[in-house]
Amino acid sequence: MRIDLQPVGAVDLEALDRLSAVLARTFGTSVRVRTRTLDAGFAYDAARKQWYSTAILAKLAEAEGGGNNRVLGVTEADLFVPILTFVFGEAQVQGPCALVSRHRLYEEFYGLPANQTLAEERLAKESVHELGHTFGLAHCDDWRCVMASSHAVDRLDLKTAEFCAPCLEVVSGARPARPAGQVR
Ligand SMILES: [Zn+2]
Ligand SMILES: [Zn+2]
Repeated sequence: MRIDLQPVGAVDLEALDRLSAVLARTFGTSVRVRTRTLDAGFAYDAARKQWYSTAILAKLAEAEGGGNNRVLGVTEADLFVPILTFVFGEAQVQGPCALVSRHRLYEEFYGLPANQTLAEERLAKESVHELGHTFGLAHCDDWRCVMASSHAVDRLDLKTAEFCAPCLEVVSGARPARPAGQVR
């Protein structure tokens, strides 16, 4: 198994390199940063001034030929799904594709001074979370677990970047996962 990081639009490659190190450690696998950027212009909604997450996810999946590899799209674009104001990310349960947005992970977005370390910690947590869904994980009731549901940055900051023991069992294949579908 391998994880590919796919830049969606212009994304800071040094941040992607740091993220790949975290993911390699967490999932115990090799992580590659793709050099070619995916243009997400097709997913732009002019009325909302946001990008349609599910459409980008479908585009990422189009290029994948099955197998056990995962693809995590990373974008600076503000993502949405029709029923919600925004999403930090989205994933296909039991894979292979997931997508995360850095847009609302920056302190500046909330009118606060920049904090690169915090923004990258949030990116790591959100990335592990969405990839966790591709392994079939649902949201976890343990608030410390990275699979805890978090729809605001304060909740993201509260949890860790790690899987709890039962979630880790699913990721490692020791325990069966839930059926396929799509989740945030
Ligand atoms: Zn858990
Ligand atoms: Zn989730």
